[in-house]
Parts: sequence; C-alpha cells; structure tokens
Amino acid sequence: MTDTATAPKVIKGRTGDWEIVLGLEVHAQVASVSKLFSGAAVGFGAGPNQQVSLVDAAMPGMLPVLNRFCVEQAVKTGLGLKAQINLKSRFDRKNYFYPDLPQGYQISQFDQPIVGEGVVTVERDDGTTFDVRIERLHLEQDAGKSLHDQDPNFTYVDLNRAGTALMEIVSRPDMRSPEEAAAYVKKLRTILVYLGTCDGDMEKGNLRADVNVSVCRPGDYEKYRATGSFSHLGTRCEIKNVNSYRYIQQAIEYEARRQIEILEDGGKIDQETRLFDPNKLETRSMRSKEEAHDYRYFPDPDLLPLVLDPAWVKEIEETLPELPDAKKARLQSQYGLSAYDAGVLIIESDRADYFEAAAKGRDAKLVANWVTNELLSKLSSGGHEIAASPLPSSDIAQLVELIENGTISSKIAKEVFEHMWAGEGRPAEIVEKRGLVQINDTGAIEAAIDKLIAANPDKAEAVKEKPQAIGWFVGQVMKETGGKANPATVNELLRNKLGL
Ligand code: MN
Repeated sequence: MTDTATAPKVIKGRTGDWEIVLGLEVHAQVASVSKLFSGAAVGFGAGPNQQVSLVDAAMPGMLPVLNRFCVEQAVKTGLGLKAQINLKSRFDRKNYFYPDLPQGYQISQFDQPIVGEGVVTVERDDGTTFDVRIERLHLEQDAGKSLHDQDPNFTYVDLNRAGTALMEIVSRPDMRSPEEAAAYVKKLRTILVYLGTCDGDMEKGNLRADVNVSVCRPGDYEKYRATGSFSHLGTRCEIKNVNSYRYIQQAIEYEARRQIEILEDGGKIDQETRLFDPNKLETRSMRSKEEAHDYRYFPDPDLLPLVLDPAWVKEIEETLPELPDAKKARLQSQYGLSAYDAGVLIIESDRADYFEAAAKGRDAKLVANWVTNELLSKLSSGGHEIAASPLPSSDIAQLVELIENGTISSKIAKEVFEHMWAGEGRPAEIVEKRGLVQINDTGAIEAAIDKLIAANPDKAEAVKEKPQAIGWFVGQVMKETGGKANPATVNELLRNKLGL
C-alpha cells in the first residue's frame, strides 16, 4: 500500500476531464467555560441572553480582557498540528454589520495570527495517507444568533454565543475529492478532541467547516504545487458553515458540477460565498465574496499585542497527550497491528484505551479484530461510541482467552458474542451454561467421522479423486457436533481416515 500525494476525483465533462481542488477553513469552538474577552459563561442550552456580559453586548466604554486559558488552547492546538507558534501576534477588528454582532466588528487576527504553518496527516478509508498543509490558526470571537422563527413579525437576537472563542484553522487547497475533505475534518476533529481544546461536537456547531471549492483541468493542480501560483487553479466559491461529514461531501459534489456546467457553457465563476441546503442538496449564492480590504481590518486599539513567553509554550508542549499519529505508530509497532486496524482504533482515544486494556497478555491482533469488527459494528448500529459499550474490555479479553486456549472455536465465539451482547453474562458463563465447549476429544470426533464414512461410501471414494470435496465431510462433522468440534482436529482426522 503506497501513499500518494494526491488522489483527485476526476469528473467527466462534455469538453473533457475536470478535477476538484478543496481548501477548508474550520471553526472550532474553544472548550472554555468563559468567553474570549469577557467572563461570561459559555454553554449550550441556557435561556436567551442569559450568558451575556456588558462586553459581549458592546456597551459603550467596555474593554475586552483576553482569556489566558483560550490562548493556551490555541497554542496547544498549534503544537498538535505540528505548526509554528508565533510568539508575537495581534488582534484586529474585522468590520462588518450583522444584527447579531453588536460591536459592528469581530475581534479576529489578520496578518499576525497566533499559529503559523503546520501539517495534518490524513488517513483515507483504504488506509493510505496524505498530507494537508495548514496555513494558519487564529483566535477570534463568534457572533450572536438571529432567531427568525420565534415570532411572525419580528426577528429576535440571542447574544449567548457572542464573544465565544473560536479557533479558525485554515488549510491550503490540498484536498482533491469530497472523501478527502471529510477525512481531513475527521482527522482534525480527532486531534482536537485528543488535545481537549475543542469538544468536536458538530451537531451543536462547535466544529464547522467553510469549504472552498474550485475545479481545474488535469495537470493544473500539479503546476500550482510546483509554482505556488493560484493562477493555475480555477476561481473558488466558499460554502459556509457545513457541519457534518455527509453535508461536506454532498455540498462539494453539487458545487463542483455546478461550476463545471458554467465553465463548459463558456461562462465564468464568480467568486462568492454560498450556502448549502441539505434538503435540496444544492448550494445557492449568499453574497459575493468580500476581499480582505472590504473589512477594513485594523489593529484593535483596546488590546495590546499578544506576546508569549517561550518557556510557557515549552511548558504547554510538555503537557501534550500522546497524539493520534504517535498512538497509531505505537499500536502498530507494539502490538503488530495493521495500519488499517490501528487507524480505526485511534479515531477515538477511548477506543485505543479499550483495546489496550483488553489486549493485555492476549493475542493482540485477535483482540483488535474483535474490537474493530464485532464490537464497533454493534455499537455503531446503535449510534454509540465505545465509551457507551455495555461490554467491558475484560469481557472481550476473556472471549479471546477462550479462543486462545481452545475452549471455543472462532465460529462459536461469534455465537457467544451475540449472547454477551444480549446481556447473558460473561463469556465463560455463557459457554458453560449453553454447553458450547469445543470438542477436542478425538474419540468423539472419530466416532462421528466413522459413522459418516460408513453411511456415505460413494462420497468417501469420490474424495480420493477430488480432495477438495473434503469440505462436505468437514461440514457434516461440524453439523453433527453442533459446530463445537475443533475444526483443526476434524480436518486432520478426516484426512487420515479418508487416506488423503
Ligand atoms: Mn472566521
């Protein structure tokens, strides 16, 4: 399995092939109990305007005070993205009018962000990987929320979210298919959750993506990578605030085809911001894309430049947990797992912990199989992650132990697992209660074989000519013993008796 730099999705058009180019701006809400520049609480589910300080409401004369904890989370995230930490950065005002933005500007970071270039290694579904370059990460405030559905005549404004800290993580246009874009967000989310800097809850909008989509002809993207010049790429459109892996992919599919159709009709793409409608599965124009100068960015005069002590950054670095890539490499080397199995286990650190607890002293590859195949598929069919598993890791360990010491076959183990899942008890109890112990007694197996050969002399004769036909005998013996005969023993004895 070789890793490829890019795997572009090719779309056949009337005038030839097209490729997709994707860059993402991900907004991740900082997992902080208070806001970026005020002491007001951050939380989901409070009544309207119950978490608003005078700063968030932009009362005249109020001054923002930077939340040190949020800065620490941004630094931590930067380190997790293997990115440059800028010891000096600055906050700027990004001016625009929204009814739910009482300041009339958003405090963000413009040309001096707290985090510079980094890289994220992303796993594709087939286990291959590719790198996405990170351009920057900056800190900024979120806006409030306009509520249009509370009254037939009025729009209400809820400022609970106003001033909440966001980390905007901007990637280079290094994704080439809808699947790669979704895989990137998945990986980014995994890193953030490992770090604890964002809870990754996409349903609540705590992690959401703006997707930049453009199309180009085969070969053009390589020219862009060789020269760094965007002139080789098509004009992009930005799809705002997409908050699920599925929507990200659907929005890209639609948007790429829309652009190709326009270009093939001889039109040109307007650079604009678009919204994805998940009901109609289409994007539609929201506003023509502003250029940076339209926002009239300028340094916020209420805030001093942000200067970090290198010793503090080092201190933060030393507290970083084992990150997904390191964990994956360790699971592969320590337990001999495949890149695929290790990749599945590291998606949630709870999965890896569960696996490691179960694998202690057991056949680790076998444990990985049980966790990634049987357990995770049962859990995911109920929409659960491993933290909600009704089966403790010690149950999987015991099941594997029963296979390892020959008490049950792998086939019977699947049956035992179903009973475990149904809540019938621990594996050893189930095996005993249901009489599922594997028959290793050669005498009993031999008796079954003799009976079978005596009843089917023609088949026993035929198998000598056609040895693969032994499968029929194996099947019959297993049936006779209720699936409990040790398959290896059955095979060996049959070969002897049939003279193979
Ligand atoms: Mn932003």
